[in-house]
Amino acid sequence: MLHIQNIDKSFDSLQVIQGLSFEVQDGEFVAIIGPSGSGKSTLFQLIGGVTSLDEGAILLDGEAIQQQRGVIGYMPQQPCLLPWRTILDNVILVEELRHKPNMELAKEWLDKVGLSAFQQAYPHELSGGMQQRVSFIRAIVSNKPILCLDEPFSALDEFTRLEMQAWLVSTWETYRKSVLFVTHSIEEALFLADRVIVLTKRPATVKAEIEVPFARPRTEDIRHSATFTA
Ligand code: ATP
Ligand code: MG
Repeated sequence: MLHIQNIDKSFDSLQVIQGLSFEVQDGEFVAIIGPSGSGKSTLFQLIGGVTSLDEGAILLDGEAIQQQRGVIGYMPQQPCLLPWRTILDNVILVEELRHKPNMELAKEWLDKVGLSAFQQAYPHELSGGMQQRVSFIRAIVSNKPILCLDEPFSALDEFTRLEMQAWLVSTWETYRKSVLFVTHSIEEALFLADRVIVLTKRPATVKAEIEVPFARPRTEDIRHSATFTA
């Protein structure tokens, strides 16, 4: 279980998160929504370990997440691809730092999201939406127990978004990872998540938690919508 425990974060005098607490069960699919500037990306940077907490704790199974390397598959809001590395290298990068890269899996995912022809291309040769897909599959291929995806589908057209949503649901159906994702779309939050956490205006704290009463669509249902949209 992931336990966000009474956390605070400021940038100089700007208090961005104050006394924020919530829990995510293993295998749960959770959407985070809240006003722009409320601190959602900062929260994910804290969970992803790319910035440090001021107060409180982020625990995975009772142990501070900072002490546990490689447990979060983090997709930042901006793709952050390394400009001097190829697309394939960018996908396996996280793995490469820790384990033998899973080259076949990376190639399989590039193919799934329609980017196999771009394996040897460089990030500047891709559109914003293509880079977002690379960043998305980098988080998935990293094969971590928790996925933290910051607005994973925001730069995509409707058809590609439905495709990507279907891939995310199918990954979840197969591996039952915990998924946390930020979205500005209430519709998307209710469509995909088991629970929606609504943050207050900055400083972010939990305003409401909504259990989604209806079942998440199955992969085939989303694919059907994607075909319909196309
Ligand atoms: P959006 O929905 O627009 O993506 P958000 O909820 O993700 O917004 P954050 O990116 O977490 O919001 O930013 C929250 C606040 O923290 C903003 O006021 C932002 O200016 C500030 N902030 C974020 N990162 C930094 C930083 N590294 N240094 C200073 N201020 C920062
Ligand atoms: Mg953000």
